[in-house]
Amino acid sequence: MAKLKTTVWLHNAHSRFPCDLCGNWHEQPGAAVILSEVSSSNPEDRLGEVCPECVRAGPEGAAKRIESQAQALRQEADRLEALAPRVASIEDWTSWEEFCARTAERDDKLEALHQAI
Ligand SMILES: [Zn+2]
Repeated sequence: MAKLKTTVWLHNAHSRFPCDLCGNWHEQPGAAVILSEVSSSNPEDRLGEVCPECVRAGPEGAAKRIESQAQALRQEADRLEALAPRVASIEDWTSWEEFCARTAERDDKLEALHQAI
């Protein structure tokens, strides 16, 4: 059976990303904790990055954070499934052409404003 492990990855980028365990967005300058799965057939399969809160929580605390995230995602899925049929029946829907016309109108006003300055 594949085994999970975490390792520290040092790099030179300043990144902002969601934790692959709890979904928490966070800054991670120059370092990350990587969750990997290791098996005899696959020396290391990278599953994702782990946020500082999950790292500090330890394996059992991180597992609780995952369960909490899974519950939130189930609730979000329920919300989206309930929303889909309501959206499908919208009569007053903004067309793509209307959207483009309105943004072009705004851009023209901004351009005229910049020309006047
Ligand atoms: Zn996390």
